[in-house]
Amino acid sequence: MRKNSLSIVMSGVIAVVIMLWGMPAFAWQGGDSTRYVLVIHGGAGTIVKEQMTPEKEKAYRKGLQDALAAGNAILKKGGNALDAVEAAVKVMEDNPLFNAGKGAVFTNEGKNEMDAAIMNGSNLQAGSVAGVTTIKNPITAARAVMEKSEHVMMTGKGAEQFAAKSGCSIVPTSYFYTEERWKGLQRARQLDSAKTRLDHDSVHVLLKQPGNRDYKYGTVGAVALDTKGNLAAATSTGGMTNKKYGRIGDAPIIGAGTYANNKTCAISCTGWGEFFIRLVMAKSVSDRIELAGETLQQATNEMIMKQLSALGGDGGLIAVDKQGNIAMPFNTKGMYRGYIKASGETAIDIYIN
Ligand code: ASP
Repeated sequence: MRKNSLSIVMSGVIAVVIMLWGMPAFAWQGGDSTRYVLVIHGGAGTIVKEQMTPEKEKAYRKGLQDALAAGNAILKKGGNALDAVEAAVKVMEDNPLFNAGKGAVFTNEGKNEMDAAIMNGSNLQAGSVAGVTTIKNPITAARAVMEKSEHVMMTGKGAEQFAAKSGCSIVPTSYFYTEERWKGLQRARQLDSAKTRLDHDSVHVLLKQPGNRDYKYGTVGAVALDTKGNLAAATSTGGMTNKKYGRIGDAPIIGAGTYANNKTCAISCTGWGEFFIRLVMAKSVSDRIELAGETLQQATNEMIMKQLSALGGDGGLIAVDKQGNIAMPFNTKGMYRGYIKASGETAIDIYIN
């Protein structure tokens, strides 16, 4: 009798084990082994077709394509959203076309000071570096802050020391010099001295006037949903041309330019950082979804097209939610952007559609 019931229990246990063994991994984690999404941006601003040469446009499209390919290679193998966003951002940091890493814009003093942040939506861990001048890939240093320190944010020399100790590649400051950005600083300086004459106009307003049309924001970013249902976000930037006195933008500020939470979405922003900080942009989008029950589309639209515009700021963001929905709103003339899905569906765009 006892032997009988024991064997019933045992066969029950075996049946459950067999059943669970056969279940796809996603059933455990709330993910989907056939579904992932990677979205990237390479900055927003006055990017208009009339000022773009076919060669330049091709080069930007290729830059975005390369970044998507790097992240996709990871996600396709069932890899983590976190690894994918870091890989995608790294590719754009190494590409001088984008305002991050090599190709970062110059400060008023003629330096390259970079900011970056990364966030893991599965555990709300985050890391960022700000005002760094010698770290080849600031996004990797941000990840080191997240994973190898008990802190979230490090700045300047301390961040650089920590990055070197953590094995990040350190380069001379001259590595970040590009002629294109240097010329950009000279143009901004001219406009800035015009500012003192025009009194109330900020340099940004002047830069946006017709004739000063080369004005654009930079920054690169990536957000991803992986097959396990985890979300991650990464942002890296040289900030804004001609920025002054240790200015830090929204990119490295968790909740402003960068945010990820498995409960809601992952976000990376680009644009006039001061406005994004004041609106606590990325976390506000997440909160609207979590607390007000808005869709990703509604929440991002409200924050970028209404609230950011109402305040006089400009820029855009990329976002993916836990269901894999994508949003890429911007209130500027253009935003370098693209996405790839597990199905292979890919899109790369620059201008307003
Ligand atoms: N948001 C960045 C900053 O203010 C600039 C940008 O996106 O181009 O530093």
